[in-house]
Amino acid sequence: MAELSVSTASREQWIDITSMIQDAVGKSGIGGGACVVYVPHTTAGVTIQENADPDVVKDCQMALARMVPDDLPFRHSEGNSTAHVKSVLTGSSVTVPVRDGRLALGTWQAIYFCEYDGPRRRRVIVDLIGGNVNG
Ligand code: ZN
Repeated sequence: MAELSVSTASREQWIDITSMIQDAVGKSGIGGGACVVYVPHTTAGVTIQENADPDVVKDCQMALARMVPDDLPFRHSEGNSTAHVKSVLTGSSVTVPVRDGRLALGTWQAIYFCEYDGPRRRRVIVDLIGGNVNG
């Protein structure tokens, strides 16, 4: 339904895309249903995480770095295997309920685009499922 663009500025970066997604939901006129946010890339991901304390995102990135160290015996010749594995761990899509035309996120939740092999220009696909128009 909508295809958005995200420009990342560094090799690893999580970007809060909640307002972009909410704008797409608002423009659609959908009242209720589900919003699927899909990242069509193998070295990036999308996840939902806390947006109140920025240290939470830093902790997630630190823990991912510990789980996927650069010195593993990777075989992939592009040299970006850590990015592929981190993409596996955060996943390629999230689904958020829509109620009264708004993403039904929890108080502390935000949708993050997760870059692992930037900087790049990336695509984010937003699809809306079911629901009533303006109701
Ligand atoms: Zn690769």
